[in-house]
Amino acid sequence: MKTRMVSIDRAAVKDSDLAEPAAILGRGGLVAFPTETVYGLGANALDEQAAARIYAAKGRPSDNPLIAHIANKADLGKLVKEIPEAGQKLMDAYWPGPLTMIFRKSSLVPYATTGGLNTVAVRMPGDAIALRLIELAGVPIAAPSANTSGRPSPTAAAHVFQDMDGRIDMIVDGGPVGIGLESTIVDVTGERPMLLRPGAVTVEMLRETVGPVEIDPALTGPLQKDVKPKAPGMKYRHYAPKADLTLVEDQEWKDGAVSAKVIETIKALALESAKRGRRAGIICTDETRQQYPQEFVIRSLGQRARQETIARSLFGVLREFDSLDVDDIYSESFPGDDLGGAIINRLTKAAGYHIRKV
Ligand code: AMP
Ligand code: MG
Repeated sequence: MKTRMVSIDRAAVKDSDLAEPAAILGRGGLVAFPTETVYGLGANALDEQAAARIYAAKGRPSDNPLIAHIANKADLGKLVKEIPEAGQKLMDAYWPGPLTMIFRKSSLVPYATTGGLNTVAVRMPGDAIALRLIELAGVPIAAPSANTSGRPSPTAAAHVFQDMDGRIDMIVDGGPVGIGLESTIVDVTGERPMLLRPGAVTVEMLRETVGPVEIDPALTGPLQKDVKPKAPGMKYRHYAPKADLTLVEDQEWKDGAVSAKVIETIKALALESAKRGRRAGIICTDETRQQYPQEFVIRSLGQRARQETIARSLFGVLREFDSLDVDDIYSESFPGDDLGGAIINRLTKAAGYHIRKV
């Protein structure tokens, strides 16, 4: 299959530019497009065969369900059995935006989209290109991250091209994304809303809107064998660079700064790798960059104080390491407040929970 690329200016989205990708989606094809979180791999969420094509293109296990994206709040009613009060409050507060909610599904939604579950994940994205494309397609669009399953999510069209060239019909290039981490996922089917994946709508924001919110136990550590996670995606290794990634973390944070102990440990670990003939990489921040020996492959995620910048650059840096043939990566860690909760969740999973406390 030949994969075509079209570029669209997010500041001036024209229907004429989106007519063709919308038509491809309408006839069951695959189109990757930007959202405010990461690039999505879109297909008609109500078409079993189209959903099956997503799983094939990504190499995604078929029990890992897809998120259905809508362009209008009014379209939610058709996809779900009911809208619980918490769901209504959260959608009033954060849609369009980086929040996905889990509802009981209506009969309209095929099991091929929900990975066999009786629930469906739904989001109304805020990105102008995504919204208009979904609107023009005229159907809800299933759109998981547009990466090969297990790889870091794509935050630029070039990342999508790396993974999906020859596997999908079209890539809509709208430039780099705004947030860079996938949406927050909240299950609103239970008595209390439960956070299944942290994102840019932080747990503090959720609690402000609906009161108590539970945290899925799968978020606080590696899953024990035989435990079934609420978000089936959580049982798979995610965001993983090819290299072995280790997080080096202080026992206690002091003002969110990285201590000399962390820096010394990272240096020592990188040196050990080098001695064993392995190429070592370091993930750091602007504040610490100069403190690491330049013989290693060093990438900064940006200024520590700017969580938005760290979030936006994380997946791109993980991907870059893949092309640099690095064997071991040692990364500084981040405190878990605000957007830090989502940042540390992705880093921890990318590291396969390999954390060195100092
Ligand atoms: P992705 O779109 O690649 O970011 O992945 C979507 C995430 O949403 C995966 O972790 C899924 O397991 C999760 N998800 C989708 N639908 C459901 C659902 N019905 N119940 C729980 N989690 C879901
Ligand atoms: Mg994904």
